[in-house]
Amino acid sequence: MLTCSKDRVQNKIETFAKFGDAGHGGITRFCFSPEDLQAREEFVKRMKAVGVETVTDDMGNMYATLPGTEEGLPRIVMASHTDSVRNGGNYDGILGVITAMEVVETIATEKIPHKHPITAMVWTNEEGSLYPPAMMSSGVVCGKFDKAKMLASKSSEGKTFGEALKQSGYVGDEANRLNPKDYMAMLELHIEQGPVLEAEKKEIGVVEGVVGMVNYRIRTYGQSDHAGTTPMPYRRDALLAAASALKYLHAELDKLDSNLVYTTGEILCHPCIHTVIPDLVDFSIDARHKDPEVIKQVVEVIKNMPKEFDKCEVKYEEAWARNTIDFDKELVDLVQKSADAYGYSSKRMYSGAGHDAQYVADMMPTTMFFVPSKDGHSHCEPEFTSVEECWKGINVVLQTVLEIDKK
Ligand SMILES: [Zn+2]
Repeated sequence: MLTCSKDRVQNKIETFAKFGDAGHGGITRFCFSPEDLQAREEFVKRMKAVGVETVTDDMGNMYATLPGTEEGLPRIVMASHTDSVRNGGNYDGILGVITAMEVVETIATEKIPHKHPITAMVWTNEEGSLYPPAMMSSGVVCGKFDKAKMLASKSSEGKTFGEALKQSGYVGDEANRLNPKDYMAMLELHIEQGPVLEAEKKEIGVVEGVVGMVNYRIRTYGQSDHAGTTPMPYRRDALLAAASALKYLHAELDKLDSNLVYTTGEILCHPCIHTVIPDLVDFSIDARHKDPEVIKQVVEVIKNMPKEFDKCEVKYEEAWARNTIDFDKELVDLVQKSADAYGYSSKRMYSGAGHDAQYVADMMPTTMFFVPSKDGHSHCEPEFTSVEECWKGINVVLQTVLEIDKK
């Protein structure tokens, strides 16, 4: 079986870990920050070193294409992102970029015959850390987001994404965008960002899709009064009501399918002063499951929640939702076949996190590969996947690219 170079993989991981090194094992590399520009330059430099030029599109997405032996065939593309969250790790996103580079480098340097052009790609602003939303550029390229609105997206310091894009020097031609005519398949390797592969001692996650989700806001309405002069029976405390609502929701949602995950990660309390009884609390509830029926049941639980807790009115509102995305079945089977060919253990699974690949999946055949995350940690500095595990994942991508090339 063909393999890529473990030493080169290690070298790439170590090199990219320097760009935005926060000094304690992780990185902060916001889109178009000086650190992100260093990572982009490194990508261009390394692709050039193996004889591959990089072009960009109008969103700053980068494409380095190794020509194939037959004229006029569509490309096979591998892509992920170079940007990170604040104090993120050395693997989220960048490992998919390293994968794309390593596969192109292996095929180029070992002169492995291939008919189709093979592209290593970098998506701009996947995390949306400075300029929301997440998956911004894939959203624009795949027709999910309006470009003008995205260009106007502002960082907390008031700079727009459009200004940062322009200053970066990476603005290219819209005609270079990923599209279903010039590209036949898109592959994204990513760390799992969860504990399952490690716990089950599996080397490769064969990703079948991305789970659907709903995000609701729950609000409780009370009455603000003085914390010292209002006896307990006279109070309408919105925070107490929110706590009761949350306990109720947990109890009911726990009765649904055991693979359902749900989270309250955001809570706003008004007026948030220690001497005042809260009159308004607003909290989020994010629920994810691959089966739309289970998501419907979640919505039913929310809708059937009592309209009042602790003498406070309770209201709910859907903030946003997305359907489950299923990746291309043929590609998923090719990933499985490639993992099996190396004798690597694998598990079929859905991604609980969002990725650029989910938008691309609506436009053209797409799939993903997962490698294990140590202790399941991600979006934090302890994020870790061993070189050996990364290398195995990249081998599976290499083999999958060569299988697709036979088509
Ligand atoms: Zn990512």
